[in-house]
Amino acid sequence: MPEPQRAAIYARISQDTEGTGKGVARQIEDCRKLAATLGWQVAGEYVDNDLSAYSGKRRPEYERMLADLADGLIDGVLVYHIDRLTRRPIELEHFLNVVDAARVQHVRFVAGETNLSTSDGLLVARIQAAVAANESASKSRRVARKHQQNAAEGKPHRGSTRPFGYESDFATVLPAEADVYRTLVTRFLAGESTRSLASWLNTEQVPTVTGSAWTTSTLKGMLTNARYAGLRVHRGQAVAPGQWDAIITEDEHRRILAKFADKKISGRRTPQRYLLSGMLRCGKCGNRLFSSARVIRGRPNRRYVCMSGPDHGGCGRLMVSADPLERFLADAVLHRLDTPELADVLAGRNSADARTQELTRALDEDQQRLDDLAQAHGRGDIDMREWMLAKKPVQDRLATTQRHLAQITHTGALTGLAGTGAGLRSAWGSLNLSRQHAIVQAVIDHAVIGPGTPGVQVLDPARVSVVWRH
Ligand SMILES: [Zn+2]
Repeated sequence: MPEPQRAAIYARISQDTEGTGKGVARQIEDCRKLAATLGWQVAGEYVDNDLSAYSGKRRPEYERMLADLADGLIDGVLVYHIDRLTRRPIELEHFLNVVDAARVQHVRFVAGETNLSTSDGLLVARIQAAVAANESASKSRRVARKHQQNAAEGKPHRGSTRPFGYESDFATVLPAEADVYRTLVTRFLAGESTRSLASWLNTEQVPTVTGSAWTTSTLKGMLTNARYAGLRVHRGQAVAPGQWDAIITEDEHRRILAKFADKKISGRRTPQRYLLSGMLRCGKCGNRLFSSARVIRGRPNRRYVCMSGPDHGGCGRLMVSADPLERFLADAVLHRLDTPELADVLAGRNSADARTQELTRALDEDQQRLDDLAQAHGRGDIDMREWMLAKKPVQDRLATTQRHLAQITHTGALTGLAGTGAGLRSAWGSLNLSRQHAIVQAVIDHAVIGPGTPGVQVLDPARVSVVWRH
């Protein structure tokens, strides 16, 4: 039997570095030495980087080698150890079939002395493959079980970077960052966009954990993360109270999720361009006023107008200059924040709190129903079609409940703002439009604008009647 003239060296790096998991360079070096000893000519190297053991992930180089074997391009295979070649017994059988069909008799391993061309050697190879697979499988089972156990005990999930607001033990609260987090939550629940919050953080030069800039997606990930409400999440489910201090309440966490769900439904993502968008009604016909800008004598003139026509359906006979009205209403809002009337409104909020709790409970129950259904399907008690049918009404109800919860958060936003009017007044000009809009919207339900004298730029306060939120 002539020695191979076109042998292949196969090497694989993986995470199971115990025992035979030598680096790729060492594996290849040892294979080359063996080739020299055996008098084989090496034609090529095939190297896979397969860092998750037993993942069943594809190995492109391994597949290329099998194809080259089948095509007769190589006539021998050298591998450091059989656990580098195959990860599961079934892969070994497949490999043996390919080698058999290609009539390749030369397969050798540096470690193990296994010779696949004899029946004893085959038996040893099969045993080794089974042992390697078993080790790999029990290792990943051990890891998975450990993760699950940690989660059930409420131990923190330790990623590569600490969470914002916590020290690197993943448990001790950093007061300064926790304050920032709570501010973000208050402002987000008040209706400010993540875009606006991210640019605020960047402007204030609040550092992220990694040192990179704040983005809307980091912010969204952070705001929706249940760990800040002291909940340990495993595979997307809160499974236990965390062994760390919460920064916000579970109720706040729910309202954040509801707010994001609501945003997804309404799909409104365009940045705010007018302070009072959506908050003004026409005093003649009751229709909503729309913002409109036109240029008069080279200067932009911003207005809110009642629009007629099929898309708007208003009377089209009312308009008001934007600038004086915005100044007037912003002033009224800031004044309102510090009044006893607002305190009274907040005192009456207990009813809203009760409603929040009721909705939260409904959310919980429906979520539980979905989990039960998924488990029933998992056990085979119900088939896929039954599962889909049963899921649908529960999911619809969940969406409705989340929407209702999001509506309530408008009132919730007032809590964080009450008594801050004087402070906000001095900073008002420096706040961006999204933040200003959120504050006004938290306080005002809407304002009705009465008819005015055409051409008059000064606002007559008598035209404005404000309907406060309560
Ligand atoms: Zn009108």
